[in-house]
Amino acid sequence: MAALPPLHLDAQQMLTDLLRMDTTNPPGNERACVDYLDRKLREVDLQPTILESGPGRANLVARLRGTGAAGGPLLIAAHLDVVEADPARWKHPPFSGAEADGCLWGRGAVDMKNLAAMGAAILRKLARDGVRPGRDIIFAAVADEEAGCDFGSRFLVEQHPELVRADYAIGEVGGFSMHLAGTTFYPVQVAEKGLCWVRARFTGEPGHGSMPRRDSAVIQLAEGITALGTAKFPVHSTRYVREFIAAIAARQPAAARPLLRLLGTPELMAKVVRLIPDVGVARSFGALLTNTASPTVVRAGSKTNVIPGVAELEIDGRTIPGQSEADFLGELRAVLGPDVELEVIKSAPPTVTEPIESPLFDVIKQQVLAREPDAVVVPYMIPGFTDAKYFSKLGCKWYGFSPVKIEKDSGIKFADMFHGNDERIPIAGLHWGTEVLDAVVRQFCA
Ligand SMILES: [Zn+2]
Repeated sequence: MAALPPLHLDAQQMLTDLLRMDTTNPPGNERACVDYLDRKLREVDLQPTILESGPGRANLVARLRGTGAAGGPLLIAAHLDVVEADPARWKHPPFSGAEADGCLWGRGAVDMKNLAAMGAAILRKLARDGVRPGRDIIFAAVADEEAGCDFGSRFLVEQHPELVRADYAIGEVGGFSMHLAGTTFYPVQVAEKGLCWVRARFTGEPGHGSMPRRDSAVIQLAEGITALGTAKFPVHSTRYVREFIAAIAARQPAAARPLLRLLGTPELMAKVVRLIPDVGVARSFGALLTNTASPTVVRAGSKTNVIPGVAELEIDGRTIPGQSEADFLGELRAVLGPDVELEVIKSAPPTVTEPIESPLFDVIKQQVLAREPDAVVVPYMIPGFTDAKYFSKLGCKWYGFSPVKIEKDSGIKFADMFHGNDERIPIAGLHWGTEVLDAVVRQFCA
C-alpha cells in the first residue's frame, strides 16, 4: 500500500489539486474531482462507488467498515461544486490553487473543497493504518449543492439511500473561528432555514404604451418590489439565536450582561440589529430573526410600445424553524396585498438537529476546547441551505463542522470568503482543522 504524506500535508495537497479543477455550477462538471478522489482512496485499498447523476455530474461515496460496537454510521459529507468567480476581481486566479500570504487561494477553499480534502485525508490515514472503527465511516463527495442539490445529495438520498444512510453527519456550515466582542466562537450548524420560492403574478389591463396606465401590471410589480424592500417581517425568536446571544453575554463584563440578555427578547433584537454598524453582520444576523423575501427575477413585456397584461416576480423566500409555508405566504400577502397571485415554485421546510446535544456534539466541543480552552462552541443556525436538507431526511443528526482556524488579526473573515472574491483558507488553519476533525472522528468512532 502506498506510503502517505503526513495527514495535514495530505489534506493540503488534495485541496490544492481540487481547487485547480473548475467546478463552477452550472454546469458543475464535478466528475473530474470525483475521479481524482476515487484514485486517492483506491491508493489505500478503499473501494469508492461513483454515482453519475447527469453528464459530467457525479458523486462519490466511500465506506470504511466498522465493527458497529460504537453505533450506526458517521457520514462526512462535502460538496464539490462551487459558485462562479470573476477572475478580474481576484488577486490570484480563482482556479489556480495558488499559495500566497500563508493561504491557499481558490473558489471552494472554504466552501467547501476543504472538507472534501480533510475527509479524504482522514479516511486515507485510517485505512492505511488498518483502523477498524467502532462504527462505519461514510465519506460522500457530492455534486450540485450550490444549485439546489438535485444532482447531488438529493439524487443520492432518493436513488441510493442505502449508501448514505447514517446516524450522524458532519458537513457544512460551521467550525470556523468567529471573533466577536473579545471572544473566539466556534459555531456548529444545527439548524438551517427553510426555503419557499414564490412566483408573484401581477395582472392589469394591457394597452398601448402611448397612453400610460397607473394600475398596469408592471407598475404594480414595481410597487410590490418597493414594498418588499422596506417590509419589516415579524420576528420569530428561536433557541439558536437566544443561546448565541446568551453565550456572548456570558463573556462580557458583568455590567453589560443584563443589557445583552435583554437582547434575547425578539422586539429588541430586531431594533438592535438595525443599529449594527457592520452591514454584513447586520444582514446575516437579521436574517436569523424573521422569514425573509428577496425579489430576484423580474419578467414582463416584450415590446417597448405595449403595456403588458401580466408581470411576474420571483421571490426567494426563507423560513425560520417553526414557521410553515402557509405562515410565510400569509406574511408575504400582507406585504404585497390581496390581488397578487402567489405560486410556490419550490419549497423545503427548515432543517433542525433536535435535540442539539448528542455524543457527537460533546466530542466536537471537547476536541475544540482541548486546543482552545478560552473559545466557546455554540450551536448555530444559517440563513441558507445545505446538503443537510436532503441527507437529514434519512434520519441523521447533522452537525455543520468543517473546522478551520482563522487568526483574529489575519484580516480574514469567514463570512466574506463564502461566495466572495479572493476566497482563501489559511494553510495553518487548514492543518489545525484537519487535526481537529481527525481527532473528532477517531474519538467518536472509537
Ligand atoms: Zn457550501
